[in-house]
Amino acid sequence: MINPILPTSTIGILGSGQLGRMMALAAKQMGYIVHIYSPGRNTPAGQVADCEFKGAYTDLNAVQAFARTCDVVTYEFENVPAATAEAVAECTVLAPGAHVLRVAQNRIVEKTTLQEAGLAVTPFRPIHTLADLEQAVAELGTPSILKTAASGYDGKGQVKISDPNQVRVAWDALHGVDCVLEAFVEFDCELSVVAARGDDGTFAPFGVVENDHVNHILDVSIAPARVAADVADRAITTAQQVLETLDVVGVLCVEFFVARDGRVLINEIAPRPHNSGHLTIEACPTSQFEQTIRAVCGLPLGETAWRKPTVMVNLLGDLWRKGTPDWAAPLALPDVHLHLYGKQEPRPGRKMGHITVSADTIDEAFATAVLARKKLLVLE
Ligand code: AMP
Repeated sequence: MINPILPTSTIGILGSGQLGRMMALAAKQMGYIVHIYSPGRNTPAGQVADCEFKGAYTDLNAVQAFARTCDVVTYEFENVPAATAEAVAECTVLAPGAHVLRVAQNRIVEKTTLQEAGLAVTPFRPIHTLADLEQAVAELGTPSILKTAASGYDGKGQVKISDPNQVRVAWDALHGVDCVLEAFVEFDCELSVVAARGDDGTFAPFGVVENDHVNHILDVSIAPARVAADVADRAITTAQQVLETLDVVGVLCVEFFVARDGRVLINEIAPRPHNSGHLTIEACPTSQFEQTIRAVCGLPLGETAWRKPTVMVNLLGDLWRKGTPDWAAPLALPDVHLHLYGKQEPRPGRKMGHITVSADTIDEAFATAVLARKKLLVLE
């Protein structure tokens, strides 16, 4: 193992969005120095870091110059090119390793790897040609979803195929790149498990979170998930198998569908903190961000039990459509916590912040969180 990388050392983060920002805040609280690398300036993470390196991910000289200033480097999004991660690993400790990134940034590799490990994934077929797609639609049926193998997130790079006649249109819409075709899963609910694994193999999951998406973007997360104990157990056990299969040192999220027939299927994985884990900041003794820092630095992992039922609602750029939201209004409600990511431009669908609410019951936390978000809207 790596010797523990102790506070006052320097942690580098590839990527500079909200995940990097909250990782940086956790690291700063623990006394680390934080360096950020991304193509941007005045970024959400750069605003709270000690040093913001601006450069392309493909500029491996600049990436290595950054890496040499760091005792350990991690990443906050999985679309960092694997070659970039490998260049970092030549200069300093990288966690999770570049091999995890290689798997998580390509849906074909990800699903094949997990399936070969005996884990239940959404039924899929790898697609390289229009003929592959025609055959896959014949096998998996409709409706099904065509997803680009690389670079997709929040529903981007996805087309639903409702009828076999739509095959060519779907293929053209995604410009004929490598894809997976997934069977459309009729699900009761969507779940996620954020979990950490230390370099000694210690496994520390947060509890199971229930997620509701609108337009493919996470809208609401609820903890703990309202599912039967055996469903929650299966999700946690599967998450452990994923982290072990991929030999992850760090934090990884597994997203699941609970199908109507009771199957708990992996939808996708993300080798980093996750939007559905933001509520751990208030809901748990250790947040997913502090846990990431602990894991990648080789420190003991922290306690993860829920303190109280907690609900998180995302704040998208759409909230700005009638003007700057009324930030003061929701803060008058009990146990409301506002997080804003320091993004300058509130575009529709862009994640600008979130609100977390804890309460004695999930119903209460949910009602307050939804009301809090509603109060942000400036009325005409
Ligand atoms: P993804 O970016 O692949 O996680 O997709 C975003 C959201 O689209 C998911 O959280 C689901 O709500 C929905 N979705 C994606 N794939 C499927 C599928 N195979 N069956 C049903 N819904 C899906």
